[in-house]
Amino acid sequence: MPYSIQDTSKLCIHTITTQPWPIEEAIERYATVGVKGMTVWRQALEGRDPAPIGERIRAAGLSIVSLCRGGFFPGLDQTARQAAIDDNLKAIDEAAALGAPLIVLVCGAVLGQLLAESRRQIKEGITTVLPHAEACNVKLAIEPLHPMYADSRSAINTIKQANDMAEAISSPYVGVAVDVYHLWWDPDLESEIRRCGRAGNLLAFHVCDWKTPTKDMLNDRGLMGEGCIPIPTIRGWVEAAGFDGFNEVEIFSHRYWAMDQAGFLQEIKEAYLKYV
Ligand code: ZN
Repeated sequence: MPYSIQDTSKLCIHTITTQPWPIEEAIERYATVGVKGMTVWRQALEGRDPAPIGERIRAAGLSIVSLCRGGFFPGLDQTARQAAIDDNLKAIDEAAALGAPLIVLVCGAVLGQLLAESRRQIKEGITTVLPHAEACNVKLAIEPLHPMYADSRSAINTIKQANDMAEAISSPYVGVAVDVYHLWWDPDLESEIRRCGRAGNLLAFHVCDWKTPTKDMLNDRGLMGEGCIPIPTIRGWVEAAGFDGFNEVEIFSHRYWAMDQAGFLQEIKEAYLKYV
């Protein structure tokens, strides 16, 4: 690996990782410790105009990696599905104003509906908003979620399903986000990452760790090195597949959010240098 021990040039952090900080403080703190990229969660923009926030991030020397998140396309009726389309169009506008080149899609699933039907609605939703994404020069990344979220968060649960959908849509504006938390267990991960890269669809790489036991299905993610995910191995696969973007630290954790965030940020940097 050609990385020096202090190389943070590909370190990106998702604003939700340090959720207690307002985005203005996160920008300043990340830049101070040498973080080079920021993925902005939409709730961090609440009550703010995205364009000046984007300028502020760039002025601090950080790249805006993506906006999180769009998606949640499936709905039990047309009204719900249209509301999702409208929200995704709005997210695309926000990304364009912010200067984010990419939106990560948590694609959605609804109780009481077959996953296959939800997948059909996801594909329909993406193709409906795609012309607006193209016009705004914002790409869309399908993020497959761990199967434990198939009930209500995503009907796309493997990288193969994400690859299949991205290839079926076949647009330079639609690809896949690889998140080690969701995909580390998959026996086909290496070959599907290779396939994803070959198709030009590998758009983002998210890292954190899987804790044993996991006490909360949503908000108990581990810091890198704290769990069982072979992160450097998976990073090697995405890089071998041609990916040269940021390594994005995305941790939802009640435990870490309760900590002093400046101390947590130091821990993130150390864990990144050691375990990613
Ligand atoms: Zn992710």
